[in-house]
Amino acid sequence: MDEFLAQKIIETAELVGVKVGMKEATDFLTYLNLLLDWNQRMNLTAITDPEEIVVKHFIDSLALVPHLKEYPTLSILDVGTGAGFPGIPLKIVLPHINVVLLDSLKKRVLFLDAVIGELGLKGISAVHGRAEDFGKQPDYREAFDIVTSRAVAKLSVLSELCIPFVKVGGNFISYKGAKADEEINEAQNAINVLGGAKLIRVEVILPGLEDKRALIFVTKKDHTPEKYPRKAGMPEKKPL
Ligand code: SAM
Repeated sequence: MDEFLAQKIIETAELVGVKVGMKEATDFLTYLNLLLDWNQRMNLTAITDPEEIVVKHFIDSLALVPHLKEYPTLSILDVGTGAGFPGIPLKIVLPHINVVLLDSLKKRVLFLDAVIGELGLKGISAVHGRAEDFGKQPDYREAFDIVTSRAVAKLSVLSELCIPFVKVGGNFISYKGAKADEEINEAQNAINVLGGAKLIRVEVILPGLEDKRALIFVTKKDHTPEKYPRKAGMPEKKPL
């Protein structure tokens, strides 16, 4: 089974333009086994079929890699990373990037620490807290080249959670599904107010899946006004 899954990871990654070697495939398998094991004791993923985890979590996370041009000097913050998506898969295949994983659920951060320890990953850490609070901290605010987020909130809300962390000239990258266009229209005001500018939408097709996915790139051109992010809960309650 392990050999079959390792091959599946390597071959499916290749289909989205990402080269995964046997060492990285083994890391993905270790991650997968930890995910399934811990998932029996806490809610980490609704997907429990190993082949589905490979495509819907690992390969979906990796679909960003061919679009990252400035590697290897990047720093990435993954907001609402949950069980580590997309931050950990990105770190496995791009070992030189610096990654910070942020999540507001302590139990998930404990899981992330276990994965980082088991895989012996360096240049990656998991922190516990809310984006609204961390976005005000001087050592986090406007400190990252890229801020990613997948399956956390709609784009208008997510913009307030993520754009404050992005350096001017950097990118906020959101993993979205079928409703991407609707969310983009709705988020235009928030993006402008927070200092975001050019928006690019890239279509993503995952091998064997029919549902539409998209990566939304927002380049930051101005500093985020100091009053953002607003206090915890407000971005969701009253989106900009
Ligand atoms: N990104 C992962 C994925 O794609 O599988 C996890 C998605 S999960 C549905 C959403 C995660 O976002 C949860 O783990 C939750 O604790 C976290 N989250 C929600 N709001 C947050 C906030 N304001 N700050 C930090 N984390 C948050």
